[in-house]
Amino acid sequence: MPMLGLGTWENEDPDQCAESVRTALEMGYRHIDTAQAYGNEDAVGDGIAAADVAREDIFLATKVWISKLSPENVLRSTETSLSRLGTDYLDLLYIHWPAGEYDPEGTLSAFDELYDEGLIRNMGVSNFEPEHVDQARDILDAPVFANQVEMHPFLQQERLRQYAAETDLDLVAYSPLARGDVIGDETLGAIAEKHDASEPQVALAWLRELGVTAIPKATSEAHIRDNWESLDIDLDEDDMARIDAIDRTDRKVHPGFAPDAW
Ligand code: NAP
Repeated sequence: MPMLGLGTWENEDPDQCAESVRTALEMGYRHIDTAQAYGNEDAVGDGIAAADVAREDIFLATKVWISKLSPENVLRSTETSLSRLGTDYLDLLYIHWPAGEYDPEGTLSAFDELYDEGLIRNMGVSNFEPEHVDQARDILDAPVFANQVEMHPFLQQERLRQYAAETDLDLVAYSPLARGDVIGDETLGAIAEKHDASEPQVALAWLRELGVTAIPKATSEAHIRDNWESLDIDLDEDDMARIDAIDRTDRKVHPGFAPDAW
């Protein structure tokens, strides 16, 4: 899975969303993250079709919404996602949250079916606590490839990182820029100045150094490029230690159906 992807939540204008996806792919991005709930799978598909990049070179991920997690709804809504995205397979299909219609036995049996049929290359979960992942692994035949969770310098997710490292699970950081709040932070700003970089680039370089995939959402070419160029930033031990020491728990995404452990 390419370690830097493009997020698309709230990139809602169809023409703009397609243009952001096309721009990112032609710049070099090879990982696109969407979800049924974002209402933009059609536009993401249009962006992929417009880009001069072959489908097989793109790692495309979407997520099944919480109202579509009964076995029949998983199968039916995934067919719809495939058709909207203009593809006959997904590189990664996540369960968006362990909530709503999520019923481990039923939901996961449908994911196994999609995996066996080759419609999804990898099965993922999102917003899962370690207990949820353990339970899913007991039920599934398919491997759990990744857990997508909120992670950035103000929510460092030590427990989930430790669990992922111990159990061979990839972590994907959503809201890696703390939804824009990394801009103006004093610590990140000082490190950014040292590297002639931006705060978003420093946050993304920190995640990469930790082995965590990041999917910043960016709309304009300037933001898409700024984030892409984070790949050129190498943080040193002192930079990493300064960011690790930011002692905040600032969660940006906390809907009412989030797991109790939050
Ligand atoms: P984010 O990526 O942390 O931040 C996005 C915000 O930062 C936007 O306002 C964007 O503005 C701005 N931005 C991006 N690059 C910038 C740059 N280089 N300089 C200045 N500002 C910049 O927030 P997010 O959208 O919440 O998270 C990223 C992706 O994760 C989502 O799009 C979605 O794909 C995924 N996600 C998943 C879940 C889940 O439950 N699994 C939840 C939340 C998000 P512009 O748009 O104007 O460029």
